[in-house]
Amino acid sequence: MSKEWNRRDFIVKPIVWAGAARMLAGTNLLAETADTAKGALLERTLGRTGLKLPIVSMGVMNADVPGILRRSYELGIRHFDTAAVYQNGRNEEMVGNVIKEMGIRDKVVISTKEGIRASTRNPVDAKMRFTDGFEASLKRLQMDHVDILYHHGVDSADVAKAEGPIEALQTLKKQGKTRFIGISTHNATEVLNAVVPLNVFDVALVTLNYTMAHDAEKLATIEKAAKSGIGIVAMKTQAGGTVRPDAKLPKELPPESQTALLKWVLNHDFITTAIPGFSTYEHLEQDFIVVRNLAYTDAEKKFLADKTFTAQAEFCQQCGQCREDCPKRVDIPALMRSHMYAVQYRNVSMARHLLAKSEVGKGLDACRACHSCQAHCRNTVQIARKIAQLKELQLA
Ligand code: SF4
Ligand code: SF4
Repeated sequence: MSKEWNRRDFIVKPIVWAGAARMLAGTNLLAETADTAKGALLERTLGRTGLKLPIVSMGVMNADVPGILRRSYELGIRHFDTAAVYQNGRNEEMVGNVIKEMGIRDKVVISTKEGIRASTRNPVDAKMRFTDGFEASLKRLQMDHVDILYHHGVDSADVAKAEGPIEALQTLKKQGKTRFIGISTHNATEVLNAVVPLNVFDVALVTLNYTMAHDAEKLATIEKAAKSGIGIVAMKTQAGGTVRPDAKLPKELPPESQTALLKWVLNHDFITTAIPGFSTYEHLEQDFIVVRNLAYTDAEKKFLADKTFTAQAEFCQQCGQCREDCPKRVDIPALMRSHMYAVQYRNVSMARHLLAKSEVGKGLDACRACHSCQAHCRNTVQIARKIAQLKELQLA
């Protein structure tokens, strides 16, 4: 772990942590802070894994302050989700260092993710690359095994069923290097319909949030997967977080928006746990309050009843229907996700990683040579504006 992280952590922790709890108490959102809250943490069982987890976990992706992981554990979080690509491996290093320093490896559930480039089509190559990638993850985590290893960012049925990663996952499970195997996707409907009959995956990490409330097919597919025994973990639960610098929404959404959005997801009992990607003490406190009580407050009900958020959040549903409008068939869903990482999460490294994954001629490179975007969103996203902003950010 870098000295810079430790130094920043030391400075930030006492100030922000106390301030966050006071600020939230001041909003009347919290009658109690996370420290003083009473009542049992709500827990659910993660499908056939049998793992019992509090309904709020930590998506570590955007965090670079180790103290936030420590504080999360102290509050009661027991599941930490990372991936090989987050911060180019430094995210796994941070998780590994904190777990080792605290001596809590046997008390927590650690998940990580490996992916392979779409261009790696040969199953033998894919298996080898996937396995080598995961061995490097174990070293960064300083662990001899993880609890869940996901095939990362699988957004089509073909990739979900690809032999190489599945064989790698099954071998690693037999070797005891991962206890359970999973698949992560932003396209739950297509991917879960493809993998449920395979009966291979123990866990699925899926994008789910309130902007998808209209999508009965997605909700039914996720529920059906859960009933088949796959443990379901939800991500992107707050549809991009509080910071909205480019949308019509207020630049910073109020705290009740975040708790309302998280409760909406967790009020579906087929979701075992959510992994909000908080990166500050303030947002940790705000999200964790949900773990004891899923009943909506009046402010939360008002937020959900007002349809402004869904109309203006411009959350890309990753449906891919806009691709056919583009003469170059650019991977617009990946561009929209890169935009969210860069602008809302302020996670430039993740935005760069995703842009670099695009095939030549199907990513931002193609848009740079195009001066009038023809693509039209079937939902609410202003594609041309976001692509113009991505070009200005010079991420690729
Ligand atoms: S800017 Fe041009 S190349 Fe890029 S998505 Fe739009 S139409 Fe396609
Ligand atoms: S931009 Fe719109 S049409 Fe395109 S993938 Fe996203 S939600 Fe679907």
